[in-house]
Amino acid sequence: MRIINTVGEMQRFSDALHRQGKTVAVVPTMGFLHEGHLSLMRLGKQKSDVLVVTIFVNPTQFGPGEDFEDYPRDWERDRQLVESVGADCIFAPEAAEMYPEGYQSAVTVRHITQNLCGLSRPTHFEGVATVVAKLFNCTKPDCAIFGQKDFQQLMVIRRMVRDLDFDIEIVGAPIVREEDGIAMSSRNTYLSEEERRSARSLSRALSEVKALCAGGERDAGTLVRHAAGIIGAEKLGRIDYVKICDVDTMQDTGRITGAAAMALAVHFSRARLIDNVLLGE
Ligand code: AMP
Repeated sequence: MRIINTVGEMQRFSDALHRQGKTVAVVPTMGFLHEGHLSLMRLGKQKSDVLVVTIFVNPTQFGPGEDFEDYPRDWERDRQLVESVGADCIFAPEAAEMYPEGYQSAVTVRHITQNLCGLSRPTHFEGVATVVAKLFNCTKPDCAIFGQKDFQQLMVIRRMVRDLDFDIEIVGAPIVREEDGIAMSSRNTYLSEEERRSARSLSRALSEVKALCAGGERDAGTLVRHAAGIIGAEKLGRIDYVKICDVDTMQDTGRITGAAAMALAVHFSRARLIDNVLLGE
């Protein structure tokens, strides 16, 4: 497996693969890998001849006071995990390689970034869209795999790819959960045992809402109150938001008529956890 740290070498590697007629899939990550990331990699391997995994804790998607410095990192463990799924290459640039002196450009996706996580993290999606555009230009993939766990992020990337004519297939992969239902996340390591028990309420609330919706309940207010009640009963979590939104516009919806999602974000001391479920058609 090849390890690449510079933009130039990454681009040359991908160019050479394309000249050999090979297709390339990329799985962008911030490292501290878990089974959720590995499921994306396995999908990438199925979809393409060559799999490139990027590991980059992108400073520009963290706001002031967020956990950029504390974000968990374990290069050696990550390297072994990526190798274990049979990936061909890790692209792991330093921040100075991605944002050298004089750097001043950004990609803005205007509307669908304004709700949900974009409300509490106003600079986050510009950081995400910009780094993903850069990672696409570095790795030159035919397809890129993103998890539905970061549902709004997936929609932002899809929008950016459509709007800016990136010739890349974007594949959304299902959320991988722990046995107790908690969505896998590198940030779960921040949770104490008690917080972890309490955090099960997130997936429990989402499954109950899904069942209620399947049973015919279409009023978003009722479903949101139900979920917030379950999470609020656990004293350790502080709800950032629990919302039902239209999947295309990311705007809040009052009644579920077409494809919608319940998305939520909840703080447990240092950890801000997100989760979601698709509802409706
Ligand atoms: P991150 O390293 O947290 O930036 O995540 C990198 C990619 O892995 C993103 O596309 C995430 O949506 C995806 N991902 C993270 N956690 C999960 C999970 N539990 N299930 C599926 N995909 C995930």
